[in-house]
Amino acid sequence: MNIIRPYLRLSGLEPLVLRPGLNFVNIGERTNVTGSKKFARLIREENYDEALSVARQQVESGAQVIDVNMDDSLLDGKHAMVTYLNLLQAEPDIAKIPVMIDSSKFDIIEAGLKCVQGRCIVNSISMKEGVEKFVDHARVCQSFGAAIVVMAFDEEGQADTIERRVEVCERAYHILVDEVGYHPEDIIFDLNVFAVATGMTEHNNYGVDFIEATKLIKEKFPLVHISGGISNLSFSFRGNETVREAMHSVFLYYAVQVGMDMGIVNAGQLMVYDQIEPKLRQLCEDVILNRNNENSEATDKLISFAETVKSKGKEIKKDDAWRQLNVAERLSHALVNGITDYIDEDTEEARQQYNRPLEVIEGPLMAGMNVVGDLFGAGKMFLPQVVKSARVMKKSVAYLTPFIEEEKRNNPNLGVSSVPKILMATVKGDVHDIGKNIVGVVLGCNGYDIIDLGVMVPTEKILDTAVKENVDIIGLSGLITPSLDEMVNVAHEMQIRHLDIPLLIGGATTSRMHTAVKIAPQYQEGVVHVLDASRSVGVVGKLLNKTQKIDFLSDIKEEYTKLKTNFENKKPVKNYLSYTDATKKPAKIDWDNFETKKPQFTGTKVWHSYDLAEVRKYIDWKPFFISWELHGNFPDILTDEIVGKEAQKVYDDANAMLDQLIAENWVHSEAVIGFWPAQRIQPDTVLVTTENKEYNLEFMRQQIKKAEGQPNLSLADFICPTLQEDFIGAFAVTIKGIETKLEEFTKQNDDYNKIMLQALCDRLAEAFTELLHEKVRKEYWGYISDEQLSNEELIKEKYQGIRPAPGYPACPDHTEKYKLFEMLQVQENIGIQLTESLAMYPAASICGWYFSHPQSQYFGVGKIMEDQVKDYQSRKNWDDETTLKWLRPVIE
Ligand code: SAH
Repeated sequence: MNIIRPYLRLSGLEPLVLRPGLNFVNIGERTNVTGSKKFARLIREENYDEALSVARQQVESGAQVIDVNMDDSLLDGKHAMVTYLNLLQAEPDIAKIPVMIDSSKFDIIEAGLKCVQGRCIVNSISMKEGVEKFVDHARVCQSFGAAIVVMAFDEEGQADTIERRVEVCERAYHILVDEVGYHPEDIIFDLNVFAVATGMTEHNNYGVDFIEATKLIKEKFPLVHISGGISNLSFSFRGNETVREAMHSVFLYYAVQVGMDMGIVNAGQLMVYDQIEPKLRQLCEDVILNRNNENSEATDKLISFAETVKSKGKEIKKDDAWRQLNVAERLSHALVNGITDYIDEDTEEARQQYNRPLEVIEGPLMAGMNVVGDLFGAGKMFLPQVVKSARVMKKSVAYLTPFIEEEKRNNPNLGVSSVPKILMATVKGDVHDIGKNIVGVVLGCNGYDIIDLGVMVPTEKILDTAVKENVDIIGLSGLITPSLDEMVNVAHEMQIRHLDIPLLIGGATTSRMHTAVKIAPQYQEGVVHVLDASRSVGVVGKLLNKTQKIDFLSDIKEEYTKLKTNFENKKPVKNYLSYTDATKKPAKIDWDNFETKKPQFTGTKVWHSYDLAEVRKYIDWKPFFISWELHGNFPDILTDEIVGKEAQKVYDDANAMLDQLIAENWVHSEAVIGFWPAQRIQPDTVLVTTENKEYNLEFMRQQIKKAEGQPNLSLADFICPTLQEDFIGAFAVTIKGIETKLEEFTKQNDDYNKIMLQALCDRLAEAFTELLHEKVRKEYWGYISDEQLSNEELIKEKYQGIRPAPGYPACPDHTEKYKLFEMLQVQENIGIQLTESLAMYPAASICGWYFSHPQSQYFGVGKIMEDQVKDYQSRKNWDDETTLKWLRPVIE
């Protein structure tokens, strides 16, 4: 069951949920005409552009909510509020955060409520003018779905003692919750921050009172929130920003500890508590906590100290400011921001502070990773950032490992707490592992122990290891279609061995449907298809939670059973032609007027090191971003509202790596292409004659019944059937030598660069394929010598001819690769190897056929019927078992 937890949920374009642990919400105060002379002037002069930039600065400085106040007697407040909010909604970089509509006039608030999208906060309503108005106002806010700030204010005036604050809030709480029906979590009490150190002794305890009242109210009503306008506190130090910032920081340090969770602040100007000059901090503490302050001595001391403080004191460079935090906070900052520069020294410092090195991992590092996990889960961090965070984590752990081992040697009895173990493997016959590596990293970030068995892992090894290591979950990955069957095998074996370990299924060709129909029925202890890395965290979390696991798995089982039943019931709906009839409906090609174009050469041509700088120009970036789970079209994605910033960063990192990779020859590109005379000798068989041998290429034909006049296609249709001369081509491309660098990155615990390099090599292989295909069209086969296409047009395949790849939908039989490899002497020429599942190693390899006919096109064969299966089987000389093995995905 899904429980909606009672958290305050706000939103601009993006959500802001006040989950426990979200420390303190900064509400940007500078867009307030009463608090900022500059802003007031801009609004009065109707200089809205610049007025918007004030809001933007607040967002950039970390404001999580933006307070907008237009209460100025010289202004038409309503007009200003409406104009400003409407303009603000059109600025995604500002409108992403929620708005706080701030006014003491309710008609301005109401006008503002009509402008904002998302879920905003009203600041404020109170019982100042009696209960009736209070209830009315609350009802209006409620009808707009807004959260409300309630001032501790009633008919008698502002609450200024602890007792009055508690009393007023208690009364307001009951009216709002019991009468109006407000959810407690949507109520924010503003407990009135008053100025201290004013010279009047009766003000000396204001800071303490606020803090005390916060504590009491939070104890009584744990779901409500406590806020306040912080700048009031230091009102008497106007002009001395250093002292003011220090006071705010000290005040928040104590108020936040007892439950203050929001505050209106100048977001760019919050000094970090530990960073305040110690003497100044001491004086501020005395004033705010009203210590050593009998006759306002503390106040006097602060005032005289303030005079000595130069406002422009030592400025700490903004980017390095975090270096002043305490070590746990620094580790957290480094993790969240993926900064490895100081990780060794910070880890060492933390190690010295804790009793045991392990405590550094379990304490600050895990705390930091939890922040990362939450941000990722909330969609505020994206995969590349998470992988960078993981790199920081790994480096820190690597630093600690020798100390942990030494400790173990000295104290063999010391317990080591155990974390859940997850085994990950790419199945037998498959070599693709970017997806698996990413999932491993993301789960590793969440504190699980990942045992990664790598690629091409046989079932026995997976299961033996799972048992030996007593793992909690097994995750299987694979990219090519034969891997789907392999996963079925693993599930089947798990059942035979009576294992009780949930099985996760992931990878490009896997699907929920295939998992439900084929894999899940094999194994009763839980099979779950996981769409991508970001989902894996939630799934694993549920599977490892004893109370959630049972419900979760039974829900999944129910869902998969339904899918399976639907799938089975749908089966007979489709109509198929007999194979003989299908062959009578080939692509309509006028072969009589066909004139073949003879390639420049027949036989093969090999490249051992094509210029990668040239290859790079042909990269299709969209799939690159997809491998980082960033979705969108290139180059628009770089300026995308949500992922743009991160996309630009990975893109920059990718290009920097490409620069280096090319300059330092990390990898090289190899390729072989070939052309040979070819003839269609049967409906779906193409005879190719090479220098040494003749090959029959076997294709499959669409058998599904189509609309009148629509052909049932086979790739063979695009080769001339008669004695007239025609040609076919083939290619194989690879990026070689990745291993050395990969090992280097692995050794440095640098998953980010490891995954980056893998993703780039895939891109280079595709790009090289694109480049060669262009050369083939224009030069080597030369059937279109005057083609002029941009890279974008190439990516959109706007050219004549196709390069279908065996194993893909138009030619789903992977085993035709054996012929292709022999014809091109692929292994001898460029060293690509075929695995037992016909995956190619190195993983960044591509092969396929070239067809030049203007009508040639990509299509999917779809499912084929028994009659075609039999025909194909006899053409391939296969026994039933082999037929089933390779054709299973296409057999209806
Ligand atoms: N620009 C992309 C290109 C790769 S995907 C990238 O950089 O990743 C497109 C390729 O997949 C085609 O060139 C072809 O080789 C193969 N392909 C696509 N659809 C196919 C089909 N229906 N049958 C066979 N091969 C296909």
